[in-house]
Amino acid sequence: MTTAVISVSAQCAADDIRHLLVDRRIRRVPVVQEGRVVGIVSRHDLVAVMATEWVCQVCGEPVRGEHPPGMCPKCQATSEQFVLQEQPPGA
Ligand SMILES: [Zn+2]
Repeated sequence: MTTAVISVSAQCAADDIRHLLVDRRIRRVPVVQEGRVVGIVSRHDLVAVMATEWVCQVCGEPVRGEHPPGMCPKCQATSEQFVLQEQPPGA
């Protein structure tokens, strides 16, 4: 992996990533988990990310993101254990 590239972890809050993109004047940033790039987040994605939440079926941990996390940050369950939590209308 290249340390010169700015990256974020899958556990990063969407709001923190948005600030990073603005501060660094970049449009997208790779998401790294355990040394592997698991995705790319762009400013456009963040709009969807902020409104999307996944819930771990094992421990109930909510994780915001366009895609389910590679691993549950709380119980280490795999991404298959995450179900999309639709935001209630008007939330
Ligand atoms: Zn979990």
